[in-house]
Amino acid sequence: MDEKGNIFNIQHFCVHDGPEIRDVVFMKGCPLRCQWCANPESQKKEFQVAYSRNKCIGCGSCIKLCPQQAIEHCEDGKIKINKDRCVECQICVKGCCSKALHTFGKLQTVEETYQELQRQAGAWRVSSGVTVSGGEPLQQSDFVAALLRRLKSAGIHTAIETSGFAPWENFQKVARYCDLVIMDVKIYDAEKHKQYTGVDNALILENLRRLRKEMPTLDVLVRTPVIPGINDTKEELQEIVNFIQEILPVNDYELLPYHNFGAAKYEQLFSSYVLSSLTKPDKNAIRELNNEFRRQLNLTER
Ligand code: SF4
Ligand code: SF4
Ligand code: SF4
Repeated sequence: MDEKGNIFNIQHFCVHDGPEIRDVVFMKGCPLRCQWCANPESQKKEFQVAYSRNKCIGCGSCIKLCPQQAIEHCEDGKIKINKDRCVECQICVKGCCSKALHTFGKLQTVEETYQELQRQAGAWRVSSGVTVSGGEPLQQSDFVAALLRRLKSAGIHTAIETSGFAPWENFQKVARYCDLVIMDVKIYDAEKHKQYTGVDNALILENLRRLRKEMPTLDVLVRTPVIPGINDTKEELQEIVNFIQEILPVNDYELLPYHNFGAAKYEQLFSSYVLSSLTKPDKNAIRELNNEFRRQLNLTER
């Protein structure tokens, strides 16, 4: 039977998710709850109804259709959904003529996903590979392994972007069909990691160690998102670099400056973005620090 995965987006022409220009498949569901997450629609593994306020014409059809009485009019004629009452049945989505209500998440088979990627490649012929991201791709390891196997059998370069928070068996199952694993080490201190991501980092560090030991020829890029006031001191970041030095080699190490591109999506899901007042860090300072760390790791500067 063809494995089905829950995918919330497929993007093309991506340049930050592996080498060259790539297609990226975003899997739904993640065990972490990073406070800075730019893809809040990826976190829950179930389908989620979302609302684009600017598309709403205030017709009120959804209010009449909702069996849970979870929707009400706002003073400005738009609507709001009480997510405590909503059971994500999607009845309102089907009845919304303006597409203001929509769903994050779609079940599709490996072959359907492969064909969708191939149609795009056939139309534009620019993609040099496919990256499976999330959410957390290792949460749907059977589907992701099967998709990567299918892509590799067609000679396509494959990568995953992962938090590394998954049983090793799931990681191994997927990594064997990868040309590149892109993995985050977000915070080195275990308690702080739990405070800001919702999970302990022991499994993540152990998985990275095992990945290097048991699959030494696989390309591995380690990344750290730099979040002002949370993990942005040189001393804290140095702890991560020291850990990487213990498990060398890695093919690259990147510091990713915090951005708030995902803030609007929290509104669509009627949830709050706790870091809304955070300012973006100085990209040049981060680039310099990244080069210092790259020198320590015997990697080429940028
Ligand atoms: S059905 Fe759609 S357009 Fe009409 S009020 Fe509801 S969200 Fe707005
Ligand atoms: S998804 Fe179902 S329960 Fe939730 S607001 Fe829409 S109709 Fe109501
Ligand atoms: S691991 Fe990624 S997808 Fe999951 S919560 Fe953190 S930032 Fe979001």
